[in-house]
Amino acid sequence: MAEPARRERRLRGIPVSPGIGIGPVFTAEEKEAPIVRRRIQAADTAAETSRLDAAVAQSRAQLLKLRARLAILPEDSQTEIAPLLEAYVQMLSGSRLLRGARQRVAEALVSAETALGDACEEIVAALLALPGDAAGRRRRAEEVREITRRVVRNLTRTPFRSFASLPAGAVLVAEGLRPADAALLEPAKLAGVLTEEGGTDGHTAILLRALGVPAVLGVPGLIAAVRSAAAVTLDGSSGDVVINPGSAARAAARRGIMAYAKERQRLAQLRRLPAVTRDGTLIELAANLELPAELPLIARSGAVGIGLLRTEFLFMNREALPDEDDQAETYRTIVEAMGGDPVTIRALDWGGEKEIEALTNAGLVPEARDANPALGLRGIRLLLRQPELFETQLAAILRAAVAGPVRILLPMVSALSELREAREHLERTARRLRRIGARIPEELPPLGIMVETPGAALAADALAQEADFFAIGTNDLAMYALAVDRGEAAVATLYDPLHPAVLRLIQFTAEAALRFHVPVSVCGEMAADPRLTPLLVGLGLRQFSMSASAVPRVKQAVRALDIEEASRLARTVMGHSDPERIRALILGA
Ligand code: PEP
Ligand code: MG
Repeated sequence: MAEPARRERRLRGIPVSPGIGIGPVFTAEEKEAPIVRRRIQAADTAAETSRLDAAVAQSRAQLLKLRARLAILPEDSQTEIAPLLEAYVQMLSGSRLLRGARQRVAEALVSAETALGDACEEIVAALLALPGDAAGRRRRAEEVREITRRVVRNLTRTPFRSFASLPAGAVLVAEGLRPADAALLEPAKLAGVLTEEGGTDGHTAILLRALGVPAVLGVPGLIAAVRSAAAVTLDGSSGDVVINPGSAARAAARRGIMAYAKERQRLAQLRRLPAVTRDGTLIELAANLELPAELPLIARSGAVGIGLLRTEFLFMNREALPDEDDQAETYRTIVEAMGGDPVTIRALDWGGEKEIEALTNAGLVPEARDANPALGLRGIRLLLRQPELFETQLAAILRAAVAGPVRILLPMVSALSELREAREHLERTARRLRRIGARIPEELPPLGIMVETPGAALAADALAQEADFFAIGTNDLAMYALAVDRGEAAVATLYDPLHPAVLRLIQFTAEAALRFHVPVSVCGEMAADPRLTPLLVGLGLRQFSMSASAVPRVKQAVRALDIEEASRLARTVMGHSDPERIRALILGA
């Protein structure tokens, strides 16, 4: 008797990586590496610590190998993966996790895996208890758990999941997929990835996007549904999954694959073309930088300069603060690498969800977090409270500024007095450096401010009299304007950068800047969304800074644009106060 045709079934999950996939199902399960609690004798602590050190060294070598593999990936993919691997590698050198584990082996007399597991859970509990940016904290907690799992697997010699038998062209289906597993996948051999767990926020999603593998995560009922499936199709843009696709679903998937491949080819060609509108207006597209590892990728992304250098990376994952020489060296390397293109260096933006151990160790920030950290001692407020910290960073920036054009950007400004005070620190620092004969530029770098609080946006006309430039931080601006924490799932739907309140703040800032001839850029996530480019250009904005991988798409939007049309669109949009209507006008939704 012939086998009955397998029934087509449709499921939907969270689309995390665009592209269409079609192929046979490959399920890869992995044996757990549970931590068996074990005590040790006092005499064995040295041997146990060496066991831990060996497993850490092995884990480090594995991650460095993964990092070396990055070179074979497309450039924009590398930009996304590098920071994650960097974070893992850093956690394996002198981190709180390893210190906690070693201390437990020596003092609590437990095995290396027990000690590591306990240290991990203590850090995770502390992270999750912090207020603010829930998604960011969850992601960070998952990083700590992930690195712990890797070291435990090496300690217990439990094999890692292997993709060696994954047939070419298959769709990988798993209950969950760790970021490090995702980094091991061969994108060219894989049609797509589907998982029952996971979502947009996680690093696995970031990696799959970076690898360019179409993926849908968090598909409820997936594992049960694929049990007897031969093939599957997935759409990484819509989240649609078809189990046992019939001929119509297969044909649609094949058409989708062709269209997507053409689109990617076109984007790659755009890199070398200028970002000019159809009527010849030049729009400046710069890159945001969070880690030096992104530097070569930025230089090749088609971005002109760095519009936002977030300096937090220099202060993170270390016990002591970087001194002036350390910082100057890092900034100089970045400025030199940009070969004469401008670099906007933002002063340290501590606060909110950003935990910086070295600042706590140095006693510069309170041990106990504020009840409301987003409204507390953040950004410029901390810098003015800790002048030595601020002036050390300013001195390092001034010394790096002899290597190329540099601008200095102040975070979280909400009052003119903060800008004035910051300028005094800059001038004092310059005088000190000149006195000791340090090389700094004749003319001090421009000093600008982030416009990312409603207070700064609404006082933009006053701030424009004294700020040398503005950088609109739409991430925080939207959060503060709408009183919505982006990381808080319960209110996530209220976080809407297209809310008329946010748009009016942007408009007011842009108009004040244009009136007073103050250069103004947008460096929040809105700048990276090509669907918003016409509106932002229509509001008079001409400079944008975004992650390197977003540059080609935004450039494409710029090149399709006519300034007159963009202005008309902006006028129409700004005439509306209904967010739904605005959304429809801009996104066509
Ligand atoms: C912003 O708030 O939009 C911004 C660019 O700063 P960060 O994301 O670093 O807070
Ligand atoms: Mg910000």
